[in-house]
Amino acid sequence: MINYKMYLGFLFASLAVSIGLQMVLPFPWGLGAALAIFIAFPLVLRRRMMSRMRGSGSFGGGLFGMNQETTVKYSCLVCNNRFKGRECPRCGSSSKRADF
Ligand SMILES: [Zn+2]
Repeated sequence: MINYKMYLGFLFASLAVSIGLQMVLPFPWGLGAALAIFIAFPLVLRRRMMSRMRGSGSFGGGLFGMNQETTVKYSCLVCNNRFKGRECPRCGSSSKRADF
């Protein structure tokens, strides 16, 4: 979804390559090669995108990830209570500052 245009680009590129292959290769081989490209190309692309997303996710998880609220401690600005989470469990205030 992120690289949708890139995916379309690759799809058209593989289409062009498959047409070229059918010109170069005799009938059954050209068709087979074209089908192989059409099947292999999205698989390779998806696997590469997945690995990239997984890599960036694990990298960002420690610094800017979704679990930031549970790992970063806060100091309540009202009662100075240290806590984890969205709001202070003692006074219920959501005014806080990050406490590293
Ligand atoms: Zn508080």
